[in-house]
Amino acid sequence: MESKYIFVTGGVVSSLGKGIISASLACLLKARGYRVTIQKFDPYINIDPGTLNPYEHGECYVTVDGHEADLDLGHYERFTNVPTTRANNVTTGRIYQSVIDKERRGDYLGKTVQIIPHITDEIKRNVKILGNTGDYDFIITEIGGTVGDIESLPFLEAVRQLRWELGTDSLCVHLTYVPYLKAAKELKTKPTQHSVKQLQQLGIQPDVLVLRTELDIPVAMRRKIAQFCNVAPEAVIQSIDRPSIYEVPVAMHEQHLDEIVLRKMAVQPQGEPHMAPWFDFLDKMKSAEKEVTIGLVGKYVELQDAYKSINEALFHAATYNDRKLRLVYIHSEKLFDSNADELLGGMDGVVIAPGFGQRGIEGKFVALRWCREHDVPTFGICLGMQCMVIEFARDVLGLGDANSTEMNPSTPHNVIDLMEEQKSIHNMGGTMRLGAYDCTLQPDSTAAKAYGKTLVSERHRHRFEFNNDYRQAFENAGMKCVGENPATHLVEVVEIPGKRWFVGTQYHPEYSSTVLSPNPLFMSFVRAAVAYADERN
Ligand code: GLN
Repeated sequence: MESKYIFVTGGVVSSLGKGIISASLACLLKARGYRVTIQKFDPYINIDPGTLNPYEHGECYVTVDGHEADLDLGHYERFTNVPTTRANNVTTGRIYQSVIDKERRGDYLGKTVQIIPHITDEIKRNVKILGNTGDYDFIITEIGGTVGDIESLPFLEAVRQLRWELGTDSLCVHLTYVPYLKAAKELKTKPTQHSVKQLQQLGIQPDVLVLRTELDIPVAMRRKIAQFCNVAPEAVIQSIDRPSIYEVPVAMHEQHLDEIVLRKMAVQPQGEPHMAPWFDFLDKMKSAEKEVTIGLVGKYVELQDAYKSINEALFHAATYNDRKLRLVYIHSEKLFDSNADELLGGMDGVVIAPGFGQRGIEGKFVALRWCREHDVPTFGICLGMQCMVIEFARDVLGLGDANSTEMNPSTPHNVIDLMEEQKSIHNMGGTMRLGAYDCTLQPDSTAAKAYGKTLVSERHRHRFEFNNDYRQAFENAGMKCVGENPATHLVEVVEIPGKRWFVGTQYHPEYSSTVLSPNPLFMSFVRAAVAYADERN
C-alpha cells in the first residue's frame, strides 16, 4: 500500500504529551502488523537539540546513526521497538540551513527565496523522506509547539498543503486540553473549541481530537465538542492521566483510536492488534509489590526529563525483575563524605549519571568511593564511567591529581583525555563521538554475561575517552577494561570483578531499552540490586 501520513498537532498548552499519543498510536498500528515510523518537526532554530542545556529541553536523545535528537524520539523507540534516524527529527534550523545552502548554490537562481513556497516546500520534502523509502505503511509526523505559535506557522501551512495533496492518504489528529475549574466544579471545553478554530483558520480540519483531561469527560460534553469542531462524535477521544505512560496505548485502543484512524484513511481494520507482550509488561508492572530502590546521582535532579531514558530503562528493568522502581534522585552538588551514609545508605543500587563540565563532579566521586567501599551495585554511564575511572585512579592508584582533561586541561594524570581526532574540532554542534559503535566484551565479564554475547553495539555521545596509556596500571590494580571498540581499541566498558556489580560504560545503554526489549545491562544491574536488597533484609 501507498505510505499514509498522520499529522499530530497540539493546542491550548504545551506538554500535553503529543509524543506519547503519537507513540501510542504507532504502537497500536505496529501491533496490527503495519510498518510504522514517527518523526518530529521542531519549530526552533537550533539545527538539533545537541547544544541545548537540559534545563531548556530535557534530555538529548541519540539515534543509532548518531543524530542528537529530541527526547520524544526516545518515546517513539520505547513504544514501537523501531529505531529512529536523523530523518526522524527535523528543526526549523535544518530546514532553513538546507534552503540557504540551495540558495548559495544557485538552485533558485533569479527567484526571490521566501517562506512560501521555498521553506514550506522544503518542509514537505522532509516530511516525505521516510515515506519515499518504501519501508513504511504509516508515517506519523508530530508537529512540535502549540497551534497559534508564530514559529510553527510554516509547518502547519505545509501540513495544510499535504492534506490537500494526499487526500485520504493523510489525516490530522489534534491534541487539546480540557481543564477542570475547581471553583466552578466544571470541565471547560472553550479552550478546545478555540484551538480547533485556530487550526481551521489555517485551513486544517482535524479528523480526530484527543482531549487531555484529569477527569472523565461526560459523553454529552464530548458530543458537544464534536458538533462545534466538525469532528465525528466517535473521533473525540479522551486521554485521562494514567499512573504510567505505558497504559496510554491500551486506553487509546479501548476508545478505538487505531480503528478510527484506519477507517478514515480508507483501510479496513482486520481483527485486533497483537498486544499480548505489551499486556504481559503491564501485568508485571501492576502486580509488582516489592520495591527496588535505585539512587541516581546527577546534577539535574530537579528536572524530571533530564535523565528520561535512564529513568525508563531502569523502569523497564525493574518491571521485568518483578519490582516497583523507587528512584531516588541524589543531587551531586549536595553529596559529601559527611552525608554519604545518610544519602546512599538505603540504596539497593546506584547509577552515576552522564553529564558535561565540572559542576557536581566532586559529589560523583564521593558516591563512587562510598559505593566501591560498601560494595553496592554501581553503574557509571558515560561521564559516570569516566568518574569511576578518575576516582579509582585517585584512591587506588594513588594518583591524587588524576582527572579528565575536560575538567582540568593541564592535569598531570589525564586518565580521561580527548581523542586525537577531537583535538582539531572547534565547532560544538554535532561533533562528538555520536551514534552506535561496536564493542567487544571479554567473555567472562559481568557485561558479557549480562548481554549473553561478546559483540554488542550501543550508542555514544561524548568527546573524551579512557586514556589507554593507563590501561595496564588499572588492570593491575583491579579495574578491568572488559569492553573495547574492535577497530580503535578505545575502552568502552570497565568493571571491578569480585564486586557485587561495579560496571561503567562509555556508551549510553539506556537509549536502546524499550518496553518489549529491555536493555540487558540494565536488567543485570537491577537484578544485582534486587539480590543485594534481599541479602540485606
Ligand atoms: N563530558 C563527557 C565527554 O564529553 C561525557 C559526556 C556524557 O556523559 N554524555 O566525554
